[in-house]
Amino acid sequence: MFAELSAALGAARAMLDFTKAASDMAKQGELAALALDFNQKLIALTDTCNKLLDENQSLKRAVSDLENDLQERGDFENQALTFELKEVASGVFAHVPKGTTNPGASTLKYCATCFKRYKLSLLQQSEEPSRQIGLTCSDCTAKVVFKYYILQ
Ligand SMILES: [Zn+2]
Repeated sequence: MFAELSAALGAARAMLDFTKAASDMAKQGELAALALDFNQKLIALTDTCNKLLDENQSLKRAVSDLENDLQERGDFENQALTFELKEVASGVFAHVPKGTTNPGASTLKYCATCFKRYKLSLLQQSEEPSRQIGLTCSDCTAKVVFKYYILQ
């Protein structure tokens, strides 16, 4: 941008210097050429400024997104402190509130996979054939089926 600005200012200075000395028709042609050169450099400078403004807007959006992500991450970290990873059924792990002794009794259960991605995704319980229990993640849709909860 500084190169374009310097070029435009240089062209403007040359045009003004020449205008002071221009008195005959031949010099009027040179003056028109200098004015054209100045306009072209001014257009290039305007294009560069517009690109920089667009880039600035993009960077501001990216910073805002990162600030939001950081805030969400902090909120997650605070919530995560109240949960622990437990084996709620044979080979089935979920994040449950700390101190949970009966994970089958209407206890919040969060997906362990989504938890690693800093997301609290509730596991929805369902009845499955042969009196089995299903847990399905509301986000990644992972599903596990088992027979009994493990009492802690
Ligand atoms: Zn999940």
